Amino acid sequence: MGVADNLSRVRELVAEAERRSGREPGSVRLMAVSKFHPASAVIEAIRAGQTLFGENRVQEAEDKFEEVRRTYPEAELHMIGSLQRNKAGKAVAISSCIQSVDRLELLDAISAHAQKAGKKIDVLFEFHTGEESKSGYADTDSLFASIDALESMPLVACRGLMTMAPFTKDEAVVRASFARLASVRDQCARRWPALDFSTLSMGMSGDFSAAIEEGSTLVRIGTAIFGERQ
Ligand SMILES: *Cc1c(COP(=O)(O)O)cnc(C)c1O
Repeated sequence: MGVADNLSRVRELVAEAERRSGREPGSVRLMAVSKFHPASAVIEAIRAGQTLFGENRVQEAEDKFEEVRRTYPEAELHMIGSLQRNKAGKAVAISSCIQSVDRLELLDAISAHAQKAGKKIDVLFEFHTGEESKSGYADTDSLFASIDALESMPLVACRGLMTMAPFTKDEAVVRASFARLASVRDQCARRWPALDFSTLSMGMSGDFSAAIEEGSTLVRIGTAIFGERQ
C-alpha cells in the first residue's frame, strides 16, 4: 500500500471514531508524522491532500522541509519530539507549533527566540500521563507555573496540551491516560479562561481511535501512513 492509500484509510478510521463518539465530523485534525521518512514521502502525502506534518528532531526536520518547501512552501510543520534548549531557535524558525514544551527553561528559550525573530509561535504543553513514558510535565504544579509565565511572552500562543500514552496493549491504561489529559485540560481552561486550550494532541497509529473517543482534537500518525520506520 502506498502513502495515498494509507492516508485515505486512516482518514476513514478517524471519521468513524468521530461518528462513534458523537464528535463533529472533521473536528479531529490529522497530523502525518514523517520522522525517519524522506522528503519524497512527505511530498507523496501532500499530493494526497495532507497539510500538517510532525517531526521529532530539529536537524532532520530542517533538511527535509527545506527540500519539501521548495515545491510546497505551505507545508505546515509541528515539532513533537523532546527538544534541547539550544535547538529552540531552529525549532521556532522552521515550525508553526512546538507541541513538546515540557519545562519552563525551554518555554523561556522559545519565547526569547520568537522575540528575536519577530515570529509568533504556537505551543502545546506536553503532560506526562503514563507510567512508562518519561516526557512531559510530571505534575500540574510545574505545568501551571509555565502557563503563568506566558503572561510575559507576547509571541508565544498557548493552544492546548499534548501527551503520549504508555506503550501497552492494555486499553484501559491507555484510555485512562487520555482521560487524564482531557481532565487536566479542563482544569487549565477553567483557571485561564482567556487562554486557548482547544487542542488536545493525543493518539498515535496504535491508539488513535481510543484517543478520539476520549476527546482528542489532533492525532499524530506515523506508521499507519508511511509504514515502518527504517
Ligand atoms: C513517532 C511519534 C508519533 C507517531 O507514532 P506512530 O506510532 O508511528 O504513529 C506520534 N507522536 C510522537 C511524539 C512521536 O514521537
